[in-house]
Amino acid sequence: RTVPNDLSAFWMPFTANRQFKKAPRMFVAAKDMYYTTADGRQVLDGTAGLWCVNAGHCRPKIVEAIQNQAAELDYAPAFQMGHPKAFELANRIVDIAPEGLNHVLFTNSGSESVETALKVALAYQRVKGEGARTRLIGRERAYHGVNFGGISVGGIVTNRKMFGTLLTGVDHMPHTHNLSKNAFSKGLPQHGVELADELERIITLHDASTIAAVIVEPVAGSTGVLIPPPGYLQRLREITKKHGILLIFDEVITGYGRLGTPFGADYFGVTPDIMVTAKGLTNGVIPMGAVLVSSEIHDAFMTGPEHVIEFFHGYTYSGNPIASAAGLATLETYKDEGLLTRGAELAPYFEQALHSLKGERHVIDIRNIGLVGAIELESIPGAPTKRAFAAFVKAFEQGVLIRTTGDIIALSPPLIVEKQHIDTIVETLRGILKTLE
Ligand code: PMP
Repeated sequence: RTVPNDLSAFWMPFTANRQFKKAPRMFVAAKDMYYTTADGRQVLDGTAGLWCVNAGHCRPKIVEAIQNQAAELDYAPAFQMGHPKAFELANRIVDIAPEGLNHVLFTNSGSESVETALKVALAYQRVKGEGARTRLIGRERAYHGVNFGGISVGGIVTNRKMFGTLLTGVDHMPHTHNLSKNAFSKGLPQHGVELADELERIITLHDASTIAAVIVEPVAGSTGVLIPPPGYLQRLREITKKHGILLIFDEVITGYGRLGTPFGADYFGVTPDIMVTAKGLTNGVIPMGAVLVSSEIHDAFMTGPEHVIEFFHGYTYSGNPIASAAGLATLETYKDEGLLTRGAELAPYFEQALHSLKGERHVIDIRNIGLVGAIELESIPGAPTKRAFAAFVKAFEQGVLIRTTGDIIALSPPLIVEKQHIDTIVETLRGILKTLE
């Protein structure tokens, strides 16, 4: 296969990309659990692409659905008209969603789903006559995509430092993650429920009547797999309910089976008012996101006078036919193969395999939930990403794709993963950890 020599035109403003352009790691094909590189090697996908290819790569049913849809009805707007598959997909998502989340707004990515959720929350408060509720509360170390709302409520200071004030009135709760208290804990951490009460403190600080919504990832994924203790999300739910504040779960990573349940909300037994999803919805194949809202929220926008626009929102590609077809085929695949709960069956094996790395050089913590895991390495002073990045490069050379964030190695294999793949990932990492500087 031909690979272009000139890589200069394509730009991802991300420093690791500079390094990548010097030594490109290029994929040219994929099948099930494996990528094929430009030089013809097989690389075991330990990350489901970017946490999205939950059913594995190039699944024939999904490929066929996309091909058929492209040939039959390529595009139809969702403004004042529609097409059957968007309606059908919305119904199928509601079927697997936590009870009470009955309406779906389509977007084209996780970032757009976040913006949509924040706008729905603010608009809902206003429609309800609570227009003073303009504040949004996020959490430290949270990732909610790269758009303006998402970086405002997100907890990564470096992602927002270039962009001035962003959304005003945003505040952040502390994260529950505390390595010194949880080192080598298996599965769920046991401390940090009390940090939910920090929300009460923030609410008191600003006055509850000024706060529209609180947004959290049930498990923060791309900032290093930060798992809340049992009871923490319940507590957030109680506090938000008490003060008339909406609770938004960003389930872009935790949705569609990643934790061994359809959604993170199911895993933790907590239902938010708004749920943000993307990635696994279409198996990562076609850009698409879906925001689920409660009937209460939906109905508030449906009772006003007709022909008066109260809340304008939606994208050219919202619920477009090809993405909808991909979404339907993906959800069918999840159902046919039991993938939304497969993570629960494999989680004990995954946990045991991962924790067998305890005691290897540089490893300071191992944590896991469903089919997500993290191995945290001790950083080299002054170079907080170097060690894990070196592991990533070595793993890639040895035929295993991992993901790193800071000096944390994150794993999230496709949900079709077999025990032997887990063994390969873990044994490759064991070998690498033994030789890592
Ligand atoms: N929210 C969360 C929790 C995510 O993990 C991500 C992507 N990793 C996003 C939002 C943004 O999604 P996208 O990259 O599709 O815009």
